[in-house]
Amino acid sequence: MSLRRRILLKVIVLGDSGVGKTSLMTQYIHKKFNQQYKATIGADFVTKELQIDDRLVTLQIWDTAGQERFQSLGVSFYRGADCCVLVYDVNVLRSFDTLDTWHEEFLKQANSPNPRKFPFILLGNKIDIDGGNSRVVSEKKAMDWCASKGNIPYFETSAKEDYNIDAAFLCIAKTALANE
Ligand code: GDP
Ligand code: MG
Repeated sequence: MSLRRRILLKVIVLGDSGVGKTSLMTQYIHKKFNQQYKATIGADFVTKELQIDDRLVTLQIWDTAGQERFQSLGVSFYRGADCCVLVYDVNVLRSFDTLDTWHEEFLKQANSPNPRKFPFILLGNKIDIDGGNSRVVSEKKAMDWCASKGNIPYFETSAKEDYNIDAAFLCIAKTALANE
């Protein structure tokens, strides 16, 4: 099987500060988890190569600091995005309630030619905490939200336990590829 052209896919990760965006990326790329919180400054990206069928794909994953105002990230940040990953913390209701804003703001800023078809993926992170006893957002509630936005794929993850992250990013890559 010969490999066809190499494809670069730009993925943007958004969500409130502290939900685990940087931890998910670090776990995915480096297989490491750090308990200490280190606020992300500005925007930065990491890359990961994947083979999907006969295609060699480079995922370029952009991290953000959630507390930053959308506008301050600048247009180049959103330009050419192939997929937007939204992250919330299943134990923090507010991080779920702000998803609408992240979703809307992304579409506004990305200026996508076909906003209703732009691929998003939702990750409900930190499902490990307290064995799931402190979660305040149910899987059903999250899936209803995804359905209301045009069937966004949903994954429950733990950056700490490395749970479901490879599966989520594979789906992200495939979704971005389909949109490419
Ligand atoms: P960000 O602001 O969205 O980038 O969040 P961080 O990745 O910096 O994570 C914020 C805090 O939550 C850090 O102390 C992490 O160690 C912790 N954290 C992130 N993901 C998980 C997880 O899946 N489980 C647990 N228990 N803690 C997590
Ligand atoms: Mg961060």
